[in-house]
Amino acid sequence: MTGPVARQLARVAAEVAEAARAAGRDPASVRLLAVSKTFPAAAVRAAYDAGCRAFGESKAQELELKRRLLPPDIEWHFIGHLQRNKAAQVLRDAAWIHSVDSLKLLERLERLAGDMGKRPVILLEVNLGGEADKTGAPWEALPELAAAAKACRHLRWAGLMGMAPLGGDGEAARACFGRLRRRRDELAAGLEIDLPELSMGMSGDYAAAIAEGATIVRIGSAIFGIRDYGD
Ligand SMILES: *Cc1c(COP(=O)(O)O)cnc(C)c1O
Repeated sequence: MTGPVARQLARVAAEVAEAARAAGRDPASVRLLAVSKTFPAAAVRAAYDAGCRAFGESKAQELELKRRLLPPDIEWHFIGHLQRNKAAQVLRDAAWIHSVDSLKLLERLERLAGDMGKRPVILLEVNLGGEADKTGAPWEALPELAAAAKACRHLRWAGLMGMAPLGGDGEAARACFGRLRRRRDELAAGLEIDLPELSMGMSGDYAAAIAEGATIVRIGSAIFGIRDYGD
């Protein structure tokens, strides 16, 4: 017997692989991060039992709770806005942090990771649409942030993350994703480092993100259903 989460996970995984093939890419080069924020541990467990091992959460407290309840071989990714006072908690629980968007946060994570003996993978989050109500560093802040990230010894900086602006059409989203990829390519060349990861694409726009080079798509509602924020 398979429940709805297992079925939807299988369908999304097949569509992600198909989008990769359509873009002339190896399906193994795109990984599916199941975004479980707001969904109960039982839903995560269902996806886990269906083979998924990487989950994304956007609140420190919720991440901690689920990590305690669920199997230890899950790789947790923190994808939400990270307040500096939650940095230690998130470093304890998450192997990846996608949402590093300021120098102060970067510096705090580097210091704490050193103290805690952690070496998380981090991504720098860019505010793709330039909207004031969104998280992510402005494009202009990226050079300084990138130079600082390169110098970190306890954080493994692997690439960039971004979200397409809400309410845009598919073409606009794809243009944003393409811009993020080019920026990543420029930074990697300019700093002479490897930046393999591009975390971009959600339930509504992952095919466009994959066409533009996404290596991680962050998918919630297409797997788990409609989200209830409860507030
Ligand atoms: C919630 C969230 C997602 C998943 O969104 P869906 O539309 O449900 O797929 C992806 N990325 C981030 C940063 C999120 O907060």
